[in-house]
Amino acid sequence: MKIIMLGAPGAGKGTQAKMLAERYGIPHISTGDIFRANIKNNTELGKKAKSYMDAGELVPDELVVDLVVDRIKNKDCMKGFILDGFPRTIPQAEALDYALNNQNEKIDYAINIDVPDAAIVERMSGRRACVGCGATYHVVYNPTKEEGICDACGEKLILRDDDKPETVQKRLDVYHEQTKPLIAHYEKKDSLLTVDGTQDIEVVFAKITEVLDR
Ligand code: ADP
Ligand code: AMP
Repeated sequence: MKIIMLGAPGAGKGTQAKMLAERYGIPHISTGDIFRANIKNNTELGKKAKSYMDAGELVPDELVVDLVVDRIKNKDCMKGFILDGFPRTIPQAEALDYALNNQNEKIDYAINIDVPDAAIVERMSGRRACVGCGATYHVVYNPTKEEGICDACGEKLILRDDDKPETVQKRLDVYHEQTKPLIAHYEKKDSLLTVDGTQDIEVVFAKITEVLDR
């Protein structure tokens, strides 16, 4: 099953992608996590991506497309994958379509998690991300058992720099301008599944799996 997650920053893509990856036994590939790992390890890619990310802007297409196209050729993607945070622009979507088409494959589901902007700022300010494994929590909606410590790997949690309110508004503007048009792109391809992302995490998950399990 080849899946992409669509939705505004903070809509719940990563939260659902992690749960779906576990249920269907396919890898969760988050381009944001890949960039953050590169920044942590001080790689050339990390150095190039950092200024865009800190400003709430998208990293240029040429830095992300080959990375993802190569990643999904890995053996662990034989049964499928879940892309979280990619594609984010029409050229990225076209490059992905092209790469899959060359192998007679296609995206099965583009899962669009729909959350209005008004709810996003609250979600982002309460989001806590694990510095170790990238798991995300929320101080109110999805708290960890022990405050500030990741349930999954025991590393510490942080508030991401780009989750501060001033950057969140910029990221929402970028989403509306560059990423939202992907909804129509996948609708045309008959792969769009839109769910109301304002519901509880478990309810959103149940609505998605109800369709994917058919
Ligand atoms: P994205 O990957 O789309 O940027 P996340 O999955 O990291 O978003 O979710 C953003 C924040 O909102 C996190 O703190 C997460 O715990 C919380 N969250 C995710 N889904 C829900 C939901 N259905 N209801 C309330 N909070 C949620
Ligand atoms: P995320 O973790 O998905 O919220 O991504 C964090 C940041 O990484 C984004 O705000 C972008 O700056 C950058 N990023 C992640 N994925 C992409 C992508 N597909 N295209 C461009 N920039 C990306």
